[in-house]
Amino acid sequence: MTETPLEWLALGRGTLDRVADRRRDDVWLAAAWNDPGTRVLVVEDGRALVAFASAVPALALVPPGQAPDGERYLLGVDGDGTAYFAVAGPLPAVEGAEPAGLRRVGALLDDRDSGLLTHAVALEHWHRTHRFCPRCGARSDLASAGHTRICQAEHTEQFPRVDPAVIMLVRDDADRVLLARGPQWPEDRRSILAGFVEPGESLEGAVEREVLEEVGLRVHDVRYLGSQPWPLPQSLMVGFFARAEGGQELRPDPVEILDAAWYSREDLRAAIERGEIVAPGPLSIAAQLITRWYGGPLPEMPPFV
Ligand SMILES: [Zn+2]
Repeated sequence: MTETPLEWLALGRGTLDRVADRRRDDVWLAAAWNDPGTRVLVVEDGRALVAFASAVPALALVPPGQAPDGERYLLGVDGDGTAYFAVAGPLPAVEGAEPAGLRRVGALLDDRDSGLLTHAVALEHWHRTHRFCPRCGARSDLASAGHTRICQAEHTEQFPRVDPAVIMLVRDDADRVLLARGPQWPEDRRSILAGFVEPGESLEGAVEREVLEEVGLRVHDVRYLGSQPWPLPQSLMVGFFARAEGGQELRPDPVEILDAAWYSREDLRAAIERGEIVAPGPLSIAAQLITRWYGGPLPEMPPFV
């Protein structure tokens, strides 16, 4: 059976052309910044201004003249030729708008705005936390319109850091799904397993290792379904299905997993309807993987945009 890719991922919906070829074009960048039609997203500590007046919340973008001083990142250009920048700085006062981050609005914004906010907060976090060269410790400066930093001493170039993580829906011979509860989670929260990829490891290898470490199962038939950026603060979530055969015993890691169990579709529906388990929200790729396995929306799951 071939799995078709996931179609809708809350933080993987950006619509702009990122125009990477313009990032070192100082003449083009200056002209774009001086164009009053250019739109600027101000970001501060992972949040931006969002207007909630209409049914679909929208980013409160400002013209360049109203943006604060601060590091500037070129986000891209839309189909009409409008350029979009982000600026890291204090959020300006915009009537009818309030600060919000990806966890609150990432699944609610339209495709363009979700992509803008995801790109901007990822860059803002990286610049804010990587001001020094990792090789020699000297200060570094923003370059490439926000997509690299250059060491002041050595002139070496650093690229934004993205940490890959795998997230996997494990099924058994009866097509039940494995759901587990992490140690910091509320009593009624369950999800599929996930973990960071280690250096020198393939994505598939990370899936097999993490499942073995966390619940003691050997899995195979690892299949890719999709990925989405997860700049909370700097990950990329890569989603898979995997299969555990042969009635293996669950042996949850007592440190990482409080509870792990197999659920049929009927088991899961009943547990949600009884209020024992809260259906996952639409922001995470976990919700999309579980929905794909389930065959449709779970009870009490809000509709995807
Ligand atoms: Zn250096």
